Amino acid sequence: MPHQQPTEDGPTSAIPTFDLRRDGYAAIDWAANYLENVRKYPVMAQVSPGDIAASLPERMPERAEPFSSVLTDLEQVIMPGITHWQHPRFFSYFATTSSEPAILAELLAATLNQVALIWRASPASTELEQVTMAWLADLLGLGDGWHGHIEDTASTSTLAALVAARHRGGRNAVVFSEHAHSSVEKDVRILGMQARKVATDSEFRMLVSGVAEQLEHGDVAAVVSTAGTTSAASFDPTPEIAELCARHQVWLHVDAAYAGSAWACPEFRASQAGVAQADSLVVNPHKWLLVPSDCSALFTRRPEALREAFTIVPEYLRTDDEAPSLSDYGPALGRRFRSLKLWAAMRCFGRAGIQEFIRNSVRLAHQFAGWVEEDPDWELVHVSLSLVCFRRNGSDEENLAIVERVNRGGEIFMTHTRLGDRIVLRLAVGYLHTTEQDVAYAWAVLNQQPG
Ligand code: PLP
Repeated sequence: MPHQQPTEDGPTSAIPTFDLRRDGYAAIDWAANYLENVRKYPVMAQVSPGDIAASLPERMPERAEPFSSVLTDLEQVIMPGITHWQHPRFFSYFATTSSEPAILAELLAATLNQVALIWRASPASTELEQVTMAWLADLLGLGDGWHGHIEDTASTSTLAALVAARHRGGRNAVVFSEHAHSSVEKDVRILGMQARKVATDSEFRMLVSGVAEQLEHGDVAAVVSTAGTTSAASFDPTPEIAELCARHQVWLHVDAAYAGSAWACPEFRASQAGVAQADSLVVNPHKWLLVPSDCSALFTRRPEALREAFTIVPEYLRTDDEAPSLSDYGPALGRRFRSLKLWAAMRCFGRAGIQEFIRNSVRLAHQFAGWVEEDPDWELVHVSLSLVCFRRNGSDEENLAIVERVNRGGEIFMTHTRLGDRIVLRLAVGYLHTTEQDVAYAWAVLNQQPG
């Protein structure tokens, strides 16, 4: 039981005290055991909608419970509803991985509970964020002249960029490809702007002619060029788009939420062409840079435009400090200490460790793509970085049935998408401890006949 504090008035207080060491060691043991044994779980949660909610009490407890009860219920009630993003055979969505140093940094960030409203509310959080963003720009080979800050997600980073673009020019339309991430369209909708979708070529890249046509209208505030689309990791022709944007004085935002991490390796920087001309750029360290969600890096060459769009300083936050407040560059006032986990990951892996991890993911994806290509029952549709798009010869329904079968089996977890007029399966590699055996296992499971 939690320790109840006696009070001077007699009755014990309802506010317990906790033994952080005892509970903390138990929680760390739990986390270490989980990561060591994660392979024993089905990758995708094998529950039905409502199962987890139904196994929880309808109301919170009246009296304090010990933390050990939370750990017990985490194991017994919550775990069945966990889809294991930290499983080496999690091949869904996009490369995602956490890492031990970043996990511990999250614990420390919560301990310090910094809320960086303005510089003086957390000088360290503000300045570490600036430093880690400069380190990240250097790691990715972005060159000089970028201002960086951290948002929660790419959805918010792009939203902030579009707010600045509209604020600057007063125009209201946003151009992006039919393969841009849905968050772009959602941001446009949130802002009440107009979405102008442009078709793609046979490699799923935005047609430059379509962008040019849209810019002729004179009402475009921003173009979003995607470097690494979600469905196929294809790359819009950013250099040509950048040229058009410069000619029409239109804000260029590059969405490299996934693929930007690959720029840590010089050999994967071809897709960075044109990015130097962009007004803003988003890269998500919480995807492929060993940092747990959430951590999205928004870089801009026009920090003053973001500042003009977002700064409001109420009296209670006014100071004479001659220091920037990063809340001036985005929607949130209360900003959590996200840079701590990025700093921990960058220091504890180093440039070489990060590069080796990225190269491993790409190598495993290409190895898998090779097996698909050699097999006459399958078709390799597209491979780019650590994402493989492929399909079994047959109908869309048959391919969807394969995804459903393997996910329900729990041995691997993957997704499908639509490329052109066909359903394809996607294998996204990007967990830190995924091995060649895991990828081979996925291939074997995909080739099993339904029993
Ligand atoms: N942009 C791209 C290219 C993505 O792949 C994704 C998510 O996978 C997003 C944006 C949205 O990311 P977030 O979940 O951080 O908003």
